[in-house]
Amino acid sequence: MTLRRALRLIRSTGRIAEPAPPKPDPIPDRPNELAGTVQIRHVDAGSCNGCEIEIAQSFGPVYDAERYGARLVASPRHADAILVTGAVTRNMLEPLLRTIDATPRPRVVIALGDCARNCGVFAEAYGVVGSVSDVTDVALTVPGCPPEPEDIIRALRSVTGT
Ligand code: SF4
Repeated sequence: MTLRRALRLIRSTGRIAEPAPPKPDPIPDRPNELAGTVQIRHVDAGSCNGCEIEIAQSFGPVYDAERYGARLVASPRHADAILVTGAVTRNMLEPLLRTIDATPRPRVVIALGDCARNCGVFAEAYGVVGSVSDVTDVALTVPGCPPEPEDIIRALRSVTGT
């Protein structure tokens, strides 16, 4: 496909993002500094990757989480929020805590998916330390195995307040 044809296709396709649903309530005690835009560092603490697929969809062109001020970043030093998936495994406990520690305050930790909330299908597995709230303070949990992009977007919007 030539560049000219690609540009024509983009113009004729137009915007494909879902219409914005009503604004959700903000999370309790949301730091004012996070209003409007939140940089997010994702940490997979031991997930099956199902939740990651839904996160990728949430930031794709259809759900487009960035239009609500949520953005994924590569470094915790640039982040305001830590988005944790999976039950916390023994090997990921220290990296998770170090990532949270490296994130400037005010920060929020979001436990995404049933495994992060309560260990889900991995409860009592030999390599699992516990849920995210067992090892750190959690501001928000998102249920589901995996949560749907609509649920992820709603949770992120309750942090950005947009
Ligand atoms: S909640 Fe479900 S999809 Fe997400 S990591 Fe656990 S098993 Fe996988």
